[in-house]
Amino acid sequence: MRLQEWELLRMKWLSIPVAACAISSFAAAPLFGRSAVQNDSTEISLRIERNFAAPREKVFGLWTDSRTVAKWFLPPDQAHWTEPPTFEARPGGRFSLRLVSKEEFYDLHGTFREVRAPEKLVLTWQWDKDSPLAGSPGDTEVSIEFLARGARTDVVLTQFGFRNEESRGQYERGWNRCFREMDKVLAEVPAESIARWKELIRVSSPGVALEHATVIDGTGAPAKQDQTIVIAGGRIAALGPSGSVDIPASVERVNLAGHTALPGLVGMHDHLFYVSNFFHTDDLLAHDMPFSYPRLYLANGVTTIRTTASFEPYADLEIKRKVDAGTLIGPKIHVTSLCIEGEGYPLTQLHVLTGPEDARRTVEYWAREGATSFKLYTDVTRVEAKAAIDEAHRWGLTVTGHLCSIGFREAAELGIDNVEHGLWVDTEFASDKQPDVCPADYNASAVDLDVNGDAIQSLIKTLVDHHVAVTSTMAAWEQFVSSPPAAIQQVLDVLSENDRKVYEAGLLLDRKKMTDGSSREKERLTRMLKKEMEFERAFVRAGGLLLAGSDGVFEAVIAGFADQRELELLVQAGFTPEQAIQIASLNGAQFLKEASRIGSLEVGKQADIMIVKGQPAKNIRDIENVELVFKDGIGYDSKKLIASAKGQVGIH
Ligand SMILES: [Zn+2]
Repeated sequence: MRLQEWELLRMKWLSIPVAACAISSFAAAPLFGRSAVQNDSTEISLRIERNFAAPREKVFGLWTDSRTVAKWFLPPDQAHWTEPPTFEARPGGRFSLRLVSKEEFYDLHGTFREVRAPEKLVLTWQWDKDSPLAGSPGDTEVSIEFLARGARTDVVLTQFGFRNEESRGQYERGWNRCFREMDKVLAEVPAESIARWKELIRVSSPGVALEHATVIDGTGAPAKQDQTIVIAGGRIAALGPSGSVDIPASVERVNLAGHTALPGLVGMHDHLFYVSNFFHTDDLLAHDMPFSYPRLYLANGVTTIRTTASFEPYADLEIKRKVDAGTLIGPKIHVTSLCIEGEGYPLTQLHVLTGPEDARRTVEYWAREGATSFKLYTDVTRVEAKAAIDEAHRWGLTVTGHLCSIGFREAAELGIDNVEHGLWVDTEFASDKQPDVCPADYNASAVDLDVNGDAIQSLIKTLVDHHVAVTSTMAAWEQFVSSPPAAIQQVLDVLSENDRKVYEAGLLLDRKKMTDGSSREKERLTRMLKKEMEFERAFVRAGGLLLAGSDGVFEAVIAGFADQRELELLVQAGFTPEQAIQIASLNGAQFLKEASRIGSLEVGKQADIMIVKGQPAKNIRDIENVELVFKDGIGYDSKKLIASAKGQVGIH
């Protein structure tokens, strides 16, 4: 490949850091929208196979306890029970699920025909003729088989008796949503394998009191001094001024004077891959780092990530399953599909779309495999994007994009939920922009525009009106304009020997050229980083939902460390430390529809808590001094986790 071309590809790659989230709203579960289609064809059935990272008794138990069923069955949006659900799992026992979702009333009920613990359940599944379900009134039968696979379980669900394909499709998407919720319910239980990690865990008592900490709760509220947090059963049981909170006699007490407790971060552009040897071959390859990346996220206080695209999506899914099962250490993971991409990007691991039907089919495929979000890439066309967005929304899932061929305003109008990387990559201001084509000048096309001027203000209004979230990834941009600050030694220690040499030689970013003062490009990108900061502030002022991610995929911008750097850059942009932390925690949780469980320090939420030495509310750089990270109430030793990844980034 010619050098010039390389230059171009390299810049394009490097300018592809992060991105997005979405606001989808779905009456999910076996409850989807109505359908008018009826047909009189003979019986139509549905069969779904699914593997769960938990032993068979536990998976079977999800179906036999009303309170547990209530957790996984209720659709997430605008839904509530009209009466407590009943689920009597005994032969002849009844179940009844009565709820309101999206202002429609649903009455689902039936009888257990067969209950063979922990192997099989057969139940009739009916819904009232007034329920807004396709093919109503309905009368189907569901059979669920549970097959032990060592510590895991295969589940085969078969449902018979649909009146039409539409109704079957709605149920397929609905059950898949329920299965994803079941994954979360299973993951809530502290892993049996705590013993296995005992070297890396500092606190594992079922009851813990974190005393005398400064608390930044993640809601944007000012830091509060001398607070006590009580954790019980993996959740926050009490939180308030020390002295006002009852501390049960049995709990382990941890004195956190001089420390700050914050919600675990929700990294919304947090990949599981790292790119080694960028110039080694003509093919770019981006491999997952199943060992080092999950633990570096957790060690640095990131307790939930969205992977925001992968080039090895099955590896992402497997890492998630292993973390859920407790055989890998890492954050809670929301897996994004592979990049949904057209022609143009030189990466062998990508699938090149052949058109809108292929885009739809790709989304459907990865939705079945377990992806919960999708990412459009730089060379996708508008019709392909529209097909992908519509299909994802049919599944109740969200779409983001690292866009180039499509401008942000166009994407908002197509229904995208989130855009990655901010103004930096919005090409709609490029002078040579042609529809559906990524222009040559794909970076920083807004560099000379005034954020308060009409063009950008109207862009912001369009994004806000369409509820399109923006993901900030400034740590990834910063590497174009200056080296990250001196704390880099910790990062260099976890890089493989080869990747450390590459970094020190400055090969990837050609830092020499970038820093010799003569580079006009450097000057332009420096101005663009400033512009990006102004844009993100203006977007939030206008009511936009700003998310944060690390996009750490090469050189010394890597998992976890870059999430902390992103917080520092948000503060540099003019947000208060408390606001920056809200952007990096609660905002992400809201986008993921997880805010009732995670994202802030509130009674009842999961105990995902980052403990740092110092006062990040006064000096945001204290965010780097992580000591202890709780996930579901288990406290991991940050320094030991980082030490355990020494020399591994780029290899494992
Ligand atoms: Zn990225």
